[in-house]
Amino acid sequence: MKKPIRKVLVINSGSSSLKYQLFDMVKGERLAKGLVERIGCGGPKDHTEALKKVVADLGDVAKDVDAIGHRVLHGAEVFKDSVKVDAKVLAKLDKLVKFGPLHMPANIGGIRACQKIFKGVPNVAVFDTAFHQTMPDCAAMYAIDPKYYRKMGIRKYGFHGTSHKFIVAEAAKLLKKPLSKVNLVTCHMGNGSSLAAVRGGQCVDTSMGLTPLAGMVMGTRCGDIDAAAVLSIMEADKLTPAQADTLLNKKSGLLALTGSSDCRDICAKAEKGDKKAELALEMLAYRTALYIGGYNTIVGGADAIVMTGGIGENSSEVRERIVNRLGALGIKLDKKANAVRGKVATISAKGSKIPVVIIPTNEELAIAQDTVKVLGA
Ligand code: ADP
Repeated sequence: MKKPIRKVLVINSGSSSLKYQLFDMVKGERLAKGLVERIGCGGPKDHTEALKKVVADLGDVAKDVDAIGHRVLHGAEVFKDSVKVDAKVLAKLDKLVKFGPLHMPANIGGIRACQKIFKGVPNVAVFDTAFHQTMPDCAAMYAIDPKYYRKMGIRKYGFHGTSHKFIVAEAAKLLKKPLSKVNLVTCHMGNGSSLAAVRGGQCVDTSMGLTPLAGMVMGTRCGDIDAAAVLSIMEADKLTPAQADTLLNKKSGLLALTGSSDCRDICAKAEKGDKKAELALEMLAYRTALYIGGYNTIVGGADAIVMTGGIGENSSEVRERIVNRLGALGIKLDKKANAVRGKVATISAKGSKIPVVIIPTNEELAIAQDTVKVLGA
């Protein structure tokens, strides 16, 4: 008889760090959680060495791992769902490195390391892009010469898919609606942020693009910007593409506007009357409201607006600024309910036309659940 999948190790392997969590899927409990840092820069020399450290940290329980789920940044159009890793899948993943030159080698390195260290234990790849693969072409295509799509795969893919999918399923349960009938606007707001338009349980649009740079004002990313502005800056400051990439991904967003990328700092500054912090929060709220309004139209009227991520789950200040801009949709805030942090809650007032709900995300658990599902199938 096939051994049931009970203990699932979830690996999030980045370029210089490896995060892990171990779940007992029968009890629905997290058994361990940890982080190995400075891979290739002072710490373990590669992902295999890092994983040996994870095995040492886990101790005896490492022997009981039944399956491993891996967070993988980009599945492009090749992977529309989570998949059990075999040689063919690995060969396909190797071809997708161009879509995430920083993250993909680390993600793939984590899988290869697990194959070496956890011999015979199945690996499942779970993609940040997969949930968004149902987007229609009218949402996913860019208005440029289609040869760039044909030759290079340039289109919108979207990210945070694991989180959006998780909160969609949770929201459907909360609203007591079958998944296939639920219309939502989901807002994942953390250091990186993205919104998704969900119609009949499926993604029909999302705010990130070819890469996670597009859309919202984020901690260090600029989000939506006129492409011509980027060209002007590159020309004026004589930036290489790599330097422009660093500028837009790591030195923009809330950091560039206020000197801090952390929403808590910015809220504290705004509270004291700091004008830059005030403007940054208003820009963040404005753009979020703009997306919510647009996506509410696209889904044909949302059953709920769902917020999650570090900011969405915890920042009453940011939520208030967003919801206050949604009056035209008949949405009203319940100020008292909005004090909630990190818990499932409705923060809109009774009589609000569309409820606004907070649902804490759990990407690692979602990866573990998908791992069980893929291997059970
Ligand atoms: P990541 O995208 O790296 O997973 P998180 O989802 O943890 O990030 O979100 C980090 C953001 O959440 C930071 O901007 C942080 O300031 C914000 N945040 C976390 N807790 C709070 C809080 N209690 N109040 C306001 N903002 C918070």
